[in-house]
Amino acid sequence: MKHIMNQNISIIGGGITGLTTAIALGQKGIPCTVYEQASELKEVGAGIWLQPNAIRVLDILGLKPKIEANGSLIDKMEITNPQLIPHKELTSDMATDRYGNKTIGIHRAVLQEILFKKASETAKIHFGKVYQKHEQRDTHIEVMFQDETIETDILLGADGLHSKVRTTLFPEAETRSSQQMCWRGIVQFPLPSELKNKGKESWGKNLRFGFSEIDRNDMVYWFAVRKGEQNDKSGAELANLFSDFNPIVSEIIKATKNIHFGALDDLKRLKKWHMGNVGLIGDAAHATTPNMGQGAGQGIEDALYLAHYYALTRNMEETYSAFENKRRKKVDYIVNNSWTFGNLAHNTWGQKILTTIMKLSPSSVLKKQMAKVYTVDF
Ligand SMILES: Cc1cc2nc3c(=O)[nH]c(=O)nc-3n(C[C@H](O)[C@H](O)[C@H](O)COP(=O)(O)OP(=O)(O)OC[C@H]3O[C@@H](n4cnc5c(N)ncnc54)[C@H](O)[C@@H]3O)c2cc1C
Repeated sequence: MKHIMNQNISIIGGGITGLTTAIALGQKGIPCTVYEQASELKEVGAGIWLQPNAIRVLDILGLKPKIEANGSLIDKMEITNPQLIPHKELTSDMATDRYGNKTIGIHRAVLQEILFKKASETAKIHFGKVYQKHEQRDTHIEVMFQDETIETDILLGADGLHSKVRTTLFPEAETRSSQQMCWRGIVQFPLPSELKNKGKESWGKNLRFGFSEIDRNDMVYWFAVRKGEQNDKSGAELANLFSDFNPIVSEIIKATKNIHFGALDDLKRLKKWHMGNVGLIGDAAHATTPNMGQGAGQGIEDALYLAHYYALTRNMEETYSAFENKRRKKVDYIVNNSWTFGNLAHNTWGQKILTTIMKLSPSSVLKKQMAKVYTVDF
């Protein structure tokens, strides 16, 4: 049996988690191969908020300056009424971790490119490789792609919410529908100065609209959520839904050329994230609804800890035992709270309860709650 550090590692999925894991392994001097189904590097035309915990990890991996230079710093994250008036005035230190990291909004494609370039320094990355299934043999794992079969010692599934690696490992695993649908877009839209460097999520009746800048050239990312929606809408129809909101909301929607529509689902809790030499990471292991803006952040944290424990342990059983022990509590907290938060936000009474709690909670209590999510004690 080869020592764990001499075993070859194959990662299925070249998304945020897969590429960050390749980078974190590379930092430990461990090469790996990433297999991505897409024929080239591409991401949906949307932005993403990388919160302080994600930025802390990306800093450890040497990527913070690039992310900062290509994204937009968000000083405050605010939940507001439809007129964009915050339910509670938050100070900017509440959105900052103890190292001074703040949330950064960035274009997903730009983030993907930064991760890809860094990962390519130590990992082989193959595109157009569609994983189908794998089988454990006596000495190795056989991985079947659409066009070839390869052998590997260790297999990591970073293939997202609808992971096929997970289906092979745990066929009983199920996704969960929140019944909420989401529209997303990016648009060049100069924001007035009072909206710059802020992430806003505005709540109306069964509707949410969030936005922020994602670079220094007036590029704005936005998302809109509605519960119970079955069908996509044109930009004009969607803008119409938000006619009671601050007019800038409909203006942003109407100015957007390409709008993406999709469901907000998560994954029912898995009992285990691995079996033998096959492990799951990121959304494949613990997809969450995006109501706390933490899905990618958790995949990024996985990458750091998995590489850390891999380098310290003797076999995958030990690696995953330490990894799951470290990661479970935080991931469960985020998946559960995000789910509850999303449900309350689309219910009149739920909104009232949440906004009252926000208003009445002292800033020190809210800060403590944020710190729970933002802290990476590494
Ligand atoms: C509307 C919305 C908004 C969000 N906003 C935020 C946010 O602001 N902040 C945040 O932190 N998170 C956010 N998230 C969550 C975040 O997008 C995900 O958690 C993150 O993308 C997960 O990364 P991943 O690499 O684990 O999975 P994915 O991004 O799903 O990547 C999986 C990769 O695997 C590849 N793949 C899949 N199947 C195969 C196969 N069979 N063979 C080979 N390759 C395969 C895919 O092509 C893809 O490249 C949001 C999610 C949604 C839906």
